[in-house]
Amino acid sequence: MPVLFCNQCCIMRSMTTNERIDHLERLLEVVRGLTTAPDLESFLQTVINEATELTNSELSSILEYDKSAEELRFLAMHWFQRDLLRPMGVPLDGSAAGWVYRRGQPLMIQDTKMDQRHFKVVDRVTRHETHSLVAVPLMVRGEVVGVLEALNKKDNAHYTEEDLTILETLGALAAQAMQNVSLQQKVRATAIELAELERLKTDFIAIASHELRTPLGLILGHATFLRETAGTDHAEQLDIIIRNATRLKEIVENLSDVDNVQTGVARVRNQKVSLAKIVGDVILTFQDEAKARNITLRSELGDSPFYLDADEVKLGIAVSNLVKNALQFTESGGHVTVKVQEDAGHFKVSVIDDGIGISAKDLPRVFERFFQVETHLTRRYGGMGLGLAVAKAMIELHNGRIWVESEEGKGSTFTFLIPVKQTQPLAPTSNPFVE
Ligand code: ADP
Repeated sequence: MPVLFCNQCCIMRSMTTNERIDHLERLLEVVRGLTTAPDLESFLQTVINEATELTNSELSSILEYDKSAEELRFLAMHWFQRDLLRPMGVPLDGSAAGWVYRRGQPLMIQDTKMDQRHFKVVDRVTRHETHSLVAVPLMVRGEVVGVLEALNKKDNAHYTEEDLTILETLGALAAQAMQNVSLQQKVRATAIELAELERLKTDFIAIASHELRTPLGLILGHATFLRETAGTDHAEQLDIIIRNATRLKEIVENLSDVDNVQTGVARVRNQKVSLAKIVGDVILTFQDEAKARNITLRSELGDSPFYLDADEVKLGIAVSNLVKNALQFTESGGHVTVKVQEDAGHFKVSVIDDGIGISAKDLPRVFERFFQVETHLTRRYGGMGLGLAVAKAMIELHNGRIWVESEEGKGSTFTFLIPVKQTQPLAPTSNPFVE
């Protein structure tokens, strides 16, 4: 075994090739532990055990910076020191770990009697005398999050550059593991927040659709009765009431549709229906509005009736919502076309417009409940952001799928595919609003 004597009379032993290979194998095992260790605590325990053995030290520990206390706290240590070190804080000033943390640089003290940076309180509490140490910062994306230190090189030896490299490697792995756990915690917290938001949306839809329906029905009923009996007196005002109450009714119906699907009570009537008729009826409903806005609204159906197993009302709602949007987001002089084609056991329906289009950033979100491209403060167009969510739910109730292709300023094409024959029963097997 090659042995060197340094000028301070301590023994420095250089490593043999076999020892180096052994060290590398052990470090590799720690790397593997990054993905296989059951939890952070056991991984950090492995790190300090290896730090102790590979640097031939008496002890090692990992300290983490505690933002609220503004000091370092022991995160991992040898089991026999646990009860003493856990409650203890190490100040940033007057400690070797604090020095390393503050500067983000490693530190080697070969003799603590000659170098006063060591924090003596820990020694007093643990009744252990530190005479040498090596410490490295734990870095996460350029930020120091803690410190890994090894104490008391055995056999009266000095710490070497090799020890420092080993500690830096172990420190990088410990920092990576700490970051992984912190990211996992953030992802978990975000998922909980999202679930809570989803629950609020669901509750709001249920409450709004139930509570608004009855008073709205009464307003519409009485206003229509007055409009018929009051002759021309106040006809204009009553028309305004009826028009706006009808608009509100549409919104409540959208809310009810969503509520029925999300609570699983949506009943789907499976009958032989003609897609050509459904599309024709929708075109007829919106033709006056299209003409008034100087938009060409037409269908491309050919002669086929496009019979399929479906719920006529629900498919009608889906097509109607798509056409309503296409008209709403198309300027005067524009075109809206509804195309139906047969495609390998499916019918493919496309609603094509040459309107304002949707930006690439908004495209993935348009089918979400309450999503609208415009913010509520600067809105030019009406709506609640439910039309597409309802259309999607209606198509998915039929075991179909819906998607959109669009380019800002050029127009949008909403397409759905729906099976001609239903092989599964038409009932909601899962809530389409939950990913
Ligand atoms: P709303 O009922 O408010 O229109 P939708 O769920 O139907 O809500 O649509 C969500 C958003 O998607 C709309 O606010 C609009 O920004 C965008 N959008 C939907 N259809 C089109 C379309 N054909 N062209 C451009 N934007 C559209």
